Amino acid sequence: MQPNPTVRTARRVEDLVAAGLVAPSAAAELEPVVRQLSLAITPEMLEAIDPEDPDDPIRRQFVPATAELEIAFEERHDPIGDDRFTPVEGIVHRHPDRVLLKPVHVCPVYCRFCFRRETVGRGGRALSADELRAALDYVRAHEEVWEVILTGGEPLVLSARRLGQIVRELDAMPHVGVVRVHSRVPVVDPGRVTGELVGALRSGETPVWVVVHTNHPRELGPAARAALARLADAGVPLLAQTVLLRGVNDDAEVLAELFRTLVRLRVKPYYLHHGDLARGTGHLRTTIEEGQALMRELRRRVSGTCLPTYVLDVPGGHGKVPVGPSYLEATDEGWRVEDVGGEVHRYPPAADGVGAR
Ligand SMILES: *Cc1c(COP(=O)(O)O)cnc(C)c1O
Ligand code: SF4
Repeated sequence: MQPNPTVRTARRVEDLVAAGLVAPSAAAELEPVVRQLSLAITPEMLEAIDPEDPDDPIRRQFVPATAELEIAFEERHDPIGDDRFTPVEGIVHRHPDRVLLKPVHVCPVYCRFCFRRETVGRGGRALSADELRAALDYVRAHEEVWEVILTGGEPLVLSARRLGQIVRELDAMPHVGVVRVHSRVPVVDPGRVTGELVGALRSGETPVWVVVHTNHPRELGPAARAALARLADAGVPLLAQTVLLRGVNDDAEVLAELFRTLVRLRVKPYYLHHGDLARGTGHLRTTIEEGQALMRELRRRVSGTCLPTYVLDVPGGHGKVPVGPSYLEATDEGWRVEDVGGEVHRYPPAADGVGAR
């Protein structure tokens, strides 16, 4: 199924009014919101929204809301501390063996919860040709870098030609073992995943992994499935990352369906991100306790292949860590371990009833 060819990417509040997604009377109050973070919703995502449902999970991700103007005291411009670890424009080098390379600042959609909302869209800018050269020189000079993660913005909005150039430059660096591309394109703008683009990803010897960002099973329509199949058939290893979002996917049923669907599409769920403290995103954030309860429920319900790791990016640039839930606790008599049903056991088990609890 192709999207209706008369539907274009919505970029102005008026487009949303015309699509019946915003009441004419509500348009004016959204103008300051889209000045903070640009508006873009692709035809595929517009068509996935049920216009009758004010709480539609796709709408909540992409249609601007006045709640974004409410900034909580703990929210930050740079929630995950990218700035501190930017040695040259376009590079984030926080972990010795990995760098982020951000060639572009634009995205085909703007997610209202974006943790880089201050640097994507209107707020950001792309690397110039010189800056890109300097960024690649940085990677070339740092032999401890084993993995280069293309992110942004959205690296797969680059043309196949430019993407291929970057892949081949990295391929020529012997210390770079793996390239990883973080992308929302296969889901939100699947038509960009052409044979040519897939060919560009495969144009060096260095394997290129793709980590697809997706948050709700309804994002995975026929065109997105076909795009993922093109990547998988070409031998591109696929992972998924999901952001836990209030009113979108903070529900075990929805997450179970999403993760099972991904595994069927040959995509391994990798991370479930706790919502970052990006400014104006409080209405979309859950608590950590809620996230842990969801992970417990999922561990009971679905195969291990379907389970991502629940992670928090520690504010201030301290990196990502798993945030549970934990099933294990140290006690004076050894470990106390909880099974998936909530029953508690000792590890190692007490010998034949001696000292049994
Ligand atoms: C998330 C992130 C990475 C990748 O982390 P993994 O845990 O390897 O997926 C690397 N560098 C930075 C700065 C990051 O934010
Ligand atoms: S696609 Fe990624 S970088 Fe772009 S707005 Fe969405 S979350 Fe942010």
